[in-house]
Amino acid sequence: IISLKHMQKAYGDHQVLKDINVDINKGEIVTIIGPSGGGKSTTLRCINLLEQPTGGEIDFHGENILAPGYDLNDYRAKVGMVFQQFNLFNNLDVLSNCMVGQELVLKRSKDEAKKIALENLKKVGMEPFIKAKPSQLSGGQQQRVAIARAISMDPEVLLFDEPTSALDPEMVGEVLEVMKKLATTGLTMIIVTHEMAFARDISDQVLFVADGIITEAGEPDQIFNHPQNEKLQKFLRNFR
Ligand code: ATP
Ligand code: MG
Repeated sequence: IISLKHMQKAYGDHQVLKDINVDINKGEIVTIIGPSGGGKSTTLRCINLLEQPTGGEIDFHGENILAPGYDLNDYRAKVGMVFQQFNLFNNLDVLSNCMVGQELVLKRSKDEAKKIALENLKKVGMEPFIKAKPSQLSGGQQQRVAIARAISMDPEVLLFDEPTSALDPEMVGEVLEVMKKLATTGLTMIIVTHEMAFARDISDQVLFVADGIITEAGEPDQIFNHPQNEKLQKFLRNFR
């Protein structure tokens, strides 16, 4: 569904992403692990076009979205993102948070947007809180609303940048559970995480990103039980 081909990103003469290559199939769960500053967030932000790659290709269904003339609105509508800091609209209640994008971007009617929002809020266990403002919720609850909002847009690909690292430890589990459930629905997910047990559990493919390249990629068993690369071995030792 998405192929990154020699994707690069530079800020001035700082080459943050040097050469990112990966094929991600529909329905796959891909996790990205690696040391701080290695380029994990930049990779996601490039896929989401929050940053413009400075080289290479992003192919979506076989077409390079960076080529002139490609319909980026279409692409943007099909790739969603869940952020570390939730990024909910604080002036809107939970239900409205999950409706506005549907109405404005997807041009759904209020009734339809509401129906879909309620379905998804139910899936993440937040239906009892539809009238609450984000500030009245715990971090874990806010993140579950952010996930309901994202899936209400019917993305084909959903990106997560450290969705649990802003949470108190006792709330991490509830968000990871929601993501595990989501992973069984056929949605393609790309997740930056420091939760190694979760990555081992959920992933079809794990990417170890360090110094702007995918230093090692493979199934969880290879990455966690038989890592080849020395940097990856060292990185994993710090989690044991
Ligand atoms: P972390 O685990 O700390 O979140 P990361 O792997 O997500 O790290 P990135 O945020 O992708 O790392 O950053 C990679 C490098 O790019 C870092 O050296 C960072 O300083 C640099 N960088 C990121 N954004 C910018 C920017 N807007 N301008 C300049 N440099 C940037
Ligand atoms: Mg990051």
